[in-house]
Amino acid sequence: MKLITQKIVELEMNIAQNIENIKSKLAGTSAQLIAVTKTKPLADLQAAYDGNCKVFGENKVQEMVEKWEVLPKDIEWHLIGHLQSNKVKYMASFVAMIHSVDSLKLLQEIDKQALKNNRVIDCLLQIYIAKEETKFGLSEDETREILNSEEFKTMKNIRIVGLMGMATFTDNQEQIRMEFRSLKSFFESLKTEYSVAENLVFREVSMGMSGDFLIAAEEGSTLVRVGSAIFGNR
Ligand SMILES: *Cc1c(COP(=O)(O)O)cnc(C)c1O
Repeated sequence: MKLITQKIVELEMNIAQNIENIKSKLAGTSAQLIAVTKTKPLADLQAAYDGNCKVFGENKVQEMVEKWEVLPKDIEWHLIGHLQSNKVKYMASFVAMIHSVDSLKLLQEIDKQALKNNRVIDCLLQIYIAKEETKFGLSEDETREILNSEEFKTMKNIRIVGLMGMATFTDNQEQIRMEFRSLKSFFESLKTEYSVAENLVFREVSMGMSGDFLIAAEEGSTLVRVGSAIFGNR
């Protein structure tokens, strides 16, 4: 029994230690750390919380809701995974930011559910930057189509605050850097093309994961989404 307790304490210290290490690497950049807690047990999330990281990213709505119900209420919950419209209602009362908006239809549903909860939900448009077929996301044309649509202009309960992207799963650091750079440059173009509105402000670029968060931070990320480098492999 004593041994087991010892083991858990060590694990928690590692989580807190990992967070501290990552935060110190990000110091001096514009990137804020989101701890990606998907598949991890509550004890790990509590350890991260105790290690002073209170911004968590989950990729499944149900799992996020279950964790939100039992953990401290000052945690900021970010939905980072692919999202189906019919799941929005379960988290609309508390989700801090949705990173994975990839259609007008989804945005309309988020707006509708946010209105029911009398709040405004911050959203990122997920942009397709990888050279892989498997990733979700919008093209540059599709992004402008959404921003130019009459439907978007009338939405009052969502606020688009920036872009999110995932680089190709590869060891080629130069390729990853170029993909992040292209997302940042698209972000800068949109920022000059569109004027700030109640429901539109280009403030966040969500890019970078465990393997590439330093490259992402160098390329101007404002939100890095780091899981396994904090909690170990899933
Ligand atoms: C799982 C996940 C991450 C974190 O991945 P790690 O490699 O474990 O850091 C980041 N972003 C998204 C969208 C994810 O699904």
